[in-house]
Amino acid sequence: MVDAIADRYELFLDGQWAVGEESFEVTDPATNDTLASVSSGNEADVDMAVHTADDALEDWTKINPAERGHLLRDISNAIRDEADKLARIETAESGRPLSESQMLISGTVGLFEFFAGMTDKIQGETIPVQEGRLNYTVREPLGVTAHIIPWNSAAIIGARSIAPALASGNTVVAKPAREAPLSTLEIARIANDAGLPDGVVNVVPGKGSTVGAALTSHEGVHGIVFTGSLGVGKTVMKAAADNVVPVELELGGKSPSIVFDDADLDNALENVLRVYDNTGQICFSTNRLFVHDAIYDEFVSRLADEVRELKYGPGIEDRDLGPVISPEAREDIHSYVEGAKSEGAEILAGGEIPTGPGNFYPATLVADVDDDQAIACDEVFGPVMTAHRFSDESEVIKRANDTNYGLFAAVYTTDLGRAHRVASEIEAGNVVVNEYPATAPQVPFGGYKESGIGREKGMQAIDHYTQLKNVAVDVGTVDD
Ligand code: NAP
Ligand code: MG
Repeated sequence: MVDAIADRYELFLDGQWAVGEESFEVTDPATNDTLASVSSGNEADVDMAVHTADDALEDWTKINPAERGHLLRDISNAIRDEADKLARIETAESGRPLSESQMLISGTVGLFEFFAGMTDKIQGETIPVQEGRLNYTVREPLGVTAHIIPWNSAAIIGARSIAPALASGNTVVAKPAREAPLSTLEIARIANDAGLPDGVVNVVPGKGSTVGAALTSHEGVHGIVFTGSLGVGKTVMKAAADNVVPVELELGGKSPSIVFDDADLDNALENVLRVYDNTGQICFSTNRLFVHDAIYDEFVSRLADEVRELKYGPGIEDRDLGPVISPEAREDIHSYVEGAKSEGAEILAGGEIPTGPGNFYPATLVADVDDDQAIACDEVFGPVMTAHRFSDESEVIKRANDTNYGLFAAVYTTDLGRAHRVASEIEAGNVVVNEYPATAPQVPFGGYKESGIGREKGMQAIDHYTQLKNVAVDVGTVDD
């Protein structure tokens, strides 16, 4: 048992813990031992949560926006005070190396801080029209918002949508993933202790197909944010259609990184290795590596040497990689590697399931892969990178874009013109040049193509959590 974790967690409704009728177990991916048992919600609990959030709406919306900002700042400070505990919880439930969890909890604090500063800057405009008329816009909250959260970086992904939703005057019902619900429950408790009024944030853990489906199809929900896989995202969008509710989708990726022959290769190597952060379980992971022919042999051989040196171990030991989330995920990952091998790929590093407890899988680098093989097209969501050779700029842009996803891309070059040319041609919501991953609360993030709809973070996020009202007034003229 991990010290930071209670044996038992409940639903968080109206500022209180509420016992559900059923429960499920959260396990430690490093051992597959039980960490905690968690109350599982049902449709009635979702209904209760949505009504609670609706009841809390009026007071929350009418609060002085500056006061709302103070509260969000208090929440960010309270999360910072419990950062060590939260990082340990995230490491235990997700398997992530501890220093990476610490970084993500610090990012969680940063998101609440950033949106705390936005509460009193959500402004409308006056629009010039004919004499005798006043015309202006007002940004108003949506109302009750539903937040469906994945397991891979639960705290920061939850904060990414909950903080701007609260800043804009909405209330929240969140559904974390069953693999890793604990940090979300703890953050709801921390927010409440920090002074957030009861009912403004509610959390209903439980199965996606029941709790998630009930929440996203509930008539009392006025906005949905879903972060997760493409298939479930499509289901959520269909549910949103039934109630004509705005939906933001943050889905998967199969992001390219492109190393040109004029790149600073030491820098490129250091950044490319970060593909193994969070054991490769990151939506924007640039795990399709394109390397220019002139430097391919040298670069890929150096990379393979480094990848073979990466060590895995339980997250708490803070090695380079932790375990992957579940035995099933490990099987899936391995079957992609085996599939590639049977089609003639060369495994330059990793690629074997180790013996012993836990869901460990080594950092894996695969070469001699065709662009259209499954391992190079599907989201493998594990510590697996494929290396591909290219010979010119227009060819590599075409190949990098040859995917249904469009979340992220990394470009390594010292040619300024080329950097901007490629950034402009790449079909992705975020492009980084000579650095990776480069994310921050003030930087908008989101996908092109099937990687999603809408942008999180940055000032632009507020657009999703508000609706625009236009007011046209006949003010008359003195002669009327
Ligand atoms: P997932 O399987 O799609 O699940 C995401 C969430 O949706 C979970 O809470 C899940 O609940 C819930 N869910 C499942 N069925 C549902 C339904 N019918 N209605 C409503 N909710 C439902 O994704 P995951 O395995 O947790 O996370 C990995 C995926 O997320 C990857 O594809 C990754 O790329 C993507 N991701 C994207 C971003 C981004 O910002 N673009 C960030 C992180 C992750 P249960 O699993 O508990 O049943
Ligand atoms: Mg899942």
